[in-house]
Amino acid sequence: MKQKHKKLVNKAIVIGCLTFFIVLFSLMKLSQPVAEYFFARGISRAYVFLAGNIASWFPFSLFDIFVTFGILSVIVCIPFFIYYLKKKRGWKAAALLERVAIAVLTVLLLYTVTASGNYYREKVPLPMYEGEQLTGEETAELVDVLMDDYVYVSGLMKRDENGITVCPYDFDELTERIRKEYRKLDDPYFSSYVPRAKEGWYSKFLTSEGITGITFLPTGDAVVNKETPHCYKTVTTAHEIAHAVGCMREGDANMMAYYVLLKSEDPYFRYCAYMYSLGHVLQVLRIVSPELYRDIAPKYPSEARTERLAEDAFWESRYSFMDDVGEFLNDLYLKMSGSGSGTESYHDYSNYSVTYDEKTQEVKEIKVTYSQTTRVMFRIAQERRGE
Ligand SMILES: [Zn+2]
Repeated sequence: MKQKHKKLVNKAIVIGCLTFFIVLFSLMKLSQPVAEYFFARGISRAYVFLAGNIASWFPFSLFDIFVTFGILSVIVCIPFFIYYLKKKRGWKAAALLERVAIAVLTVLLLYTVTASGNYYREKVPLPMYEGEQLTGEETAELVDVLMDDYVYVSGLMKRDENGITVCPYDFDELTERIRKEYRKLDDPYFSSYVPRAKEGWYSKFLTSEGITGITFLPTGDAVVNKETPHCYKTVTTAHEIAHAVGCMREGDANMMAYYVLLKSEDPYFRYCAYMYSLGHVLQVLRIVSPELYRDIAPKYPSEARTERLAEDAFWESRYSFMDDVGEFLNDLYLKMSGSGSGTESYHDYSNYSVTYDEKTQEVKEIKVTYSQTTRVMFRIAQERRGE
């Protein structure tokens, strides 16, 4: 009896230690220098290098193995727990609960040191437009550069009989090519080791939740929902890899995905990125100059619009209440991770305010606060113009 008691106490001590370190690291990460240099560029980077290399030996995602193991453990543990309670073997039930708690806390601890510190790190150092507010004409010139390229790459795409583009790569090649684009990033902010992305086993479930990808740093790999329509799948793959190289905040990961794809020589990558990013700069143009917006907006490639509508129809056809459950859980997870705006943090749109002349009530000034994504896209356009 004494031996049983001792084992329970030992496990309780382990639980206490794990909890202590989770709380300690959760407090430490609130300091930006600690988040940046101790977690993001330190422990997290070294861990992802090791775990990512191990994960790359397998054709499947280790996250899927982890999820499968978790489901099986729950299926096995619940009947045992009920059996122990029925037989009044309380100490056995308590030992089982302690084992489960140790497993859960170990994963939480790993997650805290590998991923959650990255939510508190410094601003992503991508080249961005840093000047004053652009005039309507200046904005239109930059938007036009991007729109012209969109029209150009859209014209190069192979399409099926429904007008939907055909992805030129299988998934392995796609992820390899995106990894190559990431390796071009020349800043110590980003991990030089770029993990692979893999298609997930539980893609049907992810679709029902409206989830297109998950990056789980404790297993060192990025998982992509294989049912996702391929243009969005390409952007999602780039988004998940952004998380894996250290950009955990959702708005940052979107911006990174657009940046690496828009900077690519690959017309397919640029086509995919424009489909979801061009709205950022078009929105700004509409605010500062509705007339110039009316001149440029009709250039938007109609085939790309058709493709985007087909994609919306795909998601609508898969919509269920589980979508809202997924949204709720993701919102909760992001808020707990330190992203105060939850799922709103995916949306990185520019803001504006209007002042009116008191006498005439005419618009006196429109002040735009550019989003990070908008600044990055303006800079890309400026670079293409040789500025
Ligand atoms: Zn994400």
